Amino acid sequence: MLFSEQLYEKYEIYKEKSLFHRRFKHKDILPLIKKRNPNVFKITEIGKSFEDREIFMLKIGTGKIKIMLWSQMHGDESTATAALFDIFNFFENPESFKNEAQQILNSCTLYFIPMLNPDGAERFQRRNAQDIDINRDALRLESPEGNLLMNLRDKIKPEFGFNLHDQDNWYSAGDTKFPATLSFLAPAFDKEKTINESRKKSMLLIAEMNEILKKLIPNQIGRYFDDFMPTAFGDNIQKKGTSTVLIESGGFYKDTERQFVRKLNFIAIISALYSVSTNSYQKKEIPDYEKIPFNKKNKLFDYILRNVVTEKNGKTYVADIGIRSKDLQDKDILTIEDIGDLSQNFAFSELDMKHRIIKNISIGQDADFLKGFF
Ligand SMILES: [Zn+2]
Repeated sequence: MLFSEQLYEKYEIYKEKSLFHRRFKHKDILPLIKKRNPNVFKITEIGKSFEDREIFMLKIGTGKIKIMLWSQMHGDESTATAALFDIFNFFENPESFKNEAQQILNSCTLYFIPMLNPDGAERFQRRNAQDIDINRDALRLESPEGNLLMNLRDKIKPEFGFNLHDQDNWYSAGDTKFPATLSFLAPAFDKEKTINESRKKSMLLIAEMNEILKKLIPNQIGRYFDDFMPTAFGDNIQKKGTSTVLIESGGFYKDTERQFVRKLNFIAIISALYSVSTNSYQKKEIPDYEKIPFNKKNKLFDYILRNVVTEKNGKTYVADIGIRSKDLQDKDILTIEDIGDLSQNFAFSELDMKHRIIKNISIGQDADFLKGFF
């Protein structure tokens, strides 16, 4: 069995059980940082958020390849943070994977920064407490969180960087009905989208992860367009010569808390680290990266009710109803987002209403009452 398949089988041993939904907060990860074995991890408080929450870096390994991994720059994108704590458990007690863990730590030194935006996590919102989108602050560095990330990058000068995010449920992998459960990008560092040695390494490493993951989630991996974004972190860190990999966790059937995608992150990241430590990603080629289909936005809904007869102003007509879940600070709510011919769209759950009547529907309306149909 392949290493990645064994990780898949044994994941539950490493899963950090105290994190089990998406809305955990800074106070929930503090004890998980404090409990680390000091003989395994070197823990440093690298700075504070705008509202003075501590941000930590966990360092492990003695190898010469430096790799920096940061998560949750956007406060409501917590999937990879949870996976990082699973990965810490793995390195603290690798059990049957002692050889692989040792291989990684002898070749690499890993610098983990979990939950870069704790103030955003507190409110379960994208932006930080200044209402700045940290991922558009890579040049000005006016957010304390962005500033400390870039300073660390410049001090450590890692060979690889992992920029860990979440995307909406509604991206499809290519023009298909399949959700982009994971998406990747080897960000460009200029408008011409030049591929230099450093960017090429990002591409090959992504191709390697794609190869591993597509066995677990066939047709459900996408990649982002590589338009250069002058103020984004991935692009600027790539520009500085750190081979940067963007991983975006996305939707999966009946995985509203993203626990399955978290498991995929665990497998993808450890497999990638192992691949770097053995250099096996170098066997991949740029076309292996380019064959990953582009993400297509807004192709998917959480729910579609098809062939509804609806009635307004005493007139009746047939329509499909597209429903999406919205993240509020403390819960998800369902909202009607589209009405009409949705024959070219897909959903995680679909139902043919066979011309049943639902009166007075409109876009933006709360759709909780439609849950009963599923
Ligand atoms: Zn993000």
